[in-house]
Amino acid sequence: RDINGNILPEKTENGGSKRDAEKVDLAEQSLLNKMIRRFLVRNRNQVEVLQRDPTSPLYSVKTFEELRLKPELLQGVYHLGFNRPSRIQENALPMIPQNLIAQSQSGTGKTAAFSLAMLSHVNPDNKWTQCLCIAPTYELALQIGQVIEQMGACCPDVKLAYGIRGNRPERGVKLQEQIVIGTPGTVLDWCTKYKLIDPKKITMFVLDEADVMIATQGHRDQSIRIHRQLTRDCQMLLFSATFEDSVWRFAEQVVPDPNIIRLKREEETLDTIKQFYTRKMAAWLTANLTNEGHQVALLSGELTVEQRAAVIDRFRNGKEKVLVTTNVCSRGIDVEQVSLVVNFDLPVDMEGNADNETYLHRIGRTGRFGKRGFAVNMVDSKHSMGVINQIEMHFNRRITKLDTSNLEEME
Ligand code: ADP
Repeated sequence: RDINGNILPEKTENGGSKRDAEKVDLAEQSLLNKMIRRFLVRNRNQVEVLQRDPTSPLYSVKTFEELRLKPELLQGVYHLGFNRPSRIQENALPMIPQNLIAQSQSGTGKTAAFSLAMLSHVNPDNKWTQCLCIAPTYELALQIGQVIEQMGACCPDVKLAYGIRGNRPERGVKLQEQIVIGTPGTVLDWCTKYKLIDPKKITMFVLDEADVMIATQGHRDQSIRIHRQLTRDCQMLLFSATFEDSVWRFAEQVVPDPNIIRLKREEETLDTIKQFYTRKMAAWLTANLTNEGHQVALLSGELTVEQRAAVIDRFRNGKEKVLVTTNVCSRGIDVEQVSLVVNFDLPVDMEGNADNETYLHRIGRTGRFGKRGFAVNMVDSKHSMGVINQIEMHFNRRITKLDTSNLEEME
């Protein structure tokens, strides 16, 4: 507690508060995914669509042409290499003249969907801000802006401004850019304090990464304050990668009478994964990796998110065959071609018990889309053996001992 008796957030080992660290993780993880994601994530789950008017027929598009976009915008879409709408876009794009809440995991085409929505919504002849898009961090706002810029490359009359820290247009002079993308604090200032934007003239409001946004109380409050300035006719779109109750409550507060689209995350499974444990593996691995001249890349928390993205890129492009990563960093990685995961340290919680969820997260990816994968767990003590047993029990899957004396069998 502080001197006023308020309960202070729990501190982590390095002095920061635990909840702060988690929030930073969320936003960073999301940014990392955006930076490394060059392809759509495939998902075999059905898209759930709930329309606010249940009597109106379900309408989805299989091509971008069906949307009757302006030719220069369609050109921008093709320019990005998009041939047809993603699963989420098929359903979201025709609904976008109405309010929408859309949830699907990262990489499924949400950003591209609302970028397209904003670009087709604005009237380029009107030289004032018509679309407002907010994202939880400076870096995420920049990433979204890049997509809008690329997609709108052939629409020279549509302009974009970044409402992010460090950007200070002249006070009281209204912006001419039709689209503003930024973080909640700066955008709120631009609407209220600096009067750069007339919120009554905003006709489309996009709130991206709602789950990350509401993890920070300040962002949540600022978003609601921006929202309150808008008119009732302003169209509201909200996107989120996850959908816990708290996100849902927030979404309902911000988006009245919504259409709802949900695409469940593909279940991770251990069915196609073979698991082994061994005691001598650590020494064997280290010595052999070095002796055999393997190219190993290290992904650690000390690196900036840009450096991490670069490391993942090199790994994905095959420049390095082995990627060594820490617990926290491994969560952001979603590289499809990974066929072997080695748990050098087993994932445990604060009490030293098996952290089953993290375990599944780490190795579940190797078996994605029914592909066969392989996971090796290092066991060097009674304690880690106990953790293995807990994991075995939790998932009801046997983890077999690997015979390290038989190299052929190991391969
Ligand atoms: P999300 O916002 O859900 O994380 P993005 O919109 O960033 O997803 O899309 C993920 C990746 O897929 C990006 O590299 C994007 O360029 C690409 N992408 C998006 N829509 C399409 C599409 N219709 N066809 C091909 N690629 C797409």
